[in-house]
Amino acid sequence: MPGYDEARIAPRALATEAVHAGRDDLARQGLHAPPIDLSTTYPSYDSRGEAARIDAFATTGAEPDGPPVYGRLGNPTVARFETALARLEGTEAAVAFASGMAALSAVLLVRASMGLRHVVAVRPLYGCSDHLLTAGLLGSEVTWTDPAGIEEALRPDTGLVMVESPANPTLAELDLRAVAHACGSVPLLADNTFATPVLQRPAEQGARLVLHSATKYLGGHGDVMAGVVACDEEFAGRLRQVRFATGGVLHPLAGYLLLRGLSTLPVRVRAASATAAELAGRLAADPWVARVHYPRIGGAMIAFEVDGDPHEVIAGVDLITPAVSLGSVDTLIQHPASISHRIVDADDRRGAGVSDRLLRMSVGLEDVEDLWADLDAALERAGRGAGNSATGRTAPAAAVGH
Ligand SMILES: *Cc1c(COP(=O)(O)O)cnc(C)c1O
Repeated sequence: MPGYDEARIAPRALATEAVHAGRDDLARQGLHAPPIDLSTTYPSYDSRGEAARIDAFATTGAEPDGPPVYGRLGNPTVARFETALARLEGTEAAVAFASGMAALSAVLLVRASMGLRHVVAVRPLYGCSDHLLTAGLLGSEVTWTDPAGIEEALRPDTGLVMVESPANPTLAELDLRAVAHACGSVPLLADNTFATPVLQRPAEQGARLVLHSATKYLGGHGDVMAGVVACDEEFAGRLRQVRFATGGVLHPLAGYLLLRGLSTLPVRVRAASATAAELAGRLAADPWVARVHYPRIGGAMIAFEVDGDPHEVIAGVDLITPAVSLGSVDTLIQHPASISHRIVDADDRRGAGVSDRLLRMSVGLEDVEDLWADLDAALERAGRGAGNSATGRTAPAAAVGH
């Protein structure tokens, strides 16, 4: 980044990084908001120099020195977001893509290009991640296991171990440090979409690759699709080369919105988490709710199993939006077996703990009482519809399961 001297900057707290990282050069340029560079190409009168820069990129995948070359090779606005996210996750680099799935695809292609097509993975994963691995669309072959079985599942051609914690949609948590240890020299990819670097920094626990669907909390307003991988510079170089070759680049406007989203990430995640913890407690005490899953590390996601018909809860919300996706400023609820995890084979899905009665809620920034009133009414409607007594059961309340 022009005029930016990394060595000059002392370590700063996450909240400070969130608003300043990726923007360190702005004041010296006389700017406050970051510029959006929409150029697809860049003029250069020195084609010998361009040849050398392209050769260097083909060798290491490092961002070319000097002015950008072409939009698929790198973009200055997107680079600001990448710099900022790497700082928040505590990694050397980050590489942004058009979506979370494009980011995961690039990781698989990097490993497959090295002849390492075998993946060891722990369910549940986000439905499309599960599908991408199971279907072998990119030539990968997956072995599903539990955390204790990882070491045994490794083969000479294993290129990746993939986990999510808290996992989508059950919020199951893993000991990332123990998992990283079991991986040995095989890179561990931790999908950190749900926790965000505000609650958990997997690289500090030994994950070589930290994946985000930036569509969710990083963007935070439900209006950007993006993915990003935070990792060491060596792997980042390979990811940039795959991104250049396959074209899953992030649009500069999306890069701008993501950088802006990061500045409020800690505040959003903390506020929504406080509301989610309160709602999880009330759900656990609710007669129409059989089970509540809320992570030990907290967060703004709640999963719960209803006593009645989950489809009636979805049909009954008013303030809460019945929609797939998560991590927005407003509260969303969805039925994983119908939507986010529909693409996973029903037996595999149930085996991973995704029951047909499970609902997944992404808590936003609304007032907790307004949210509870809406949820309570929807649960009551669903519970009654299932033929329970009109006054509600008096059975023991559900415990919050971690
Ligand atoms: C949404 C999601 C993805 C996929 O991201 P897209 O941006 O939709 O491509 C991957 N992992 C998790 C945990 C997700 O929730």
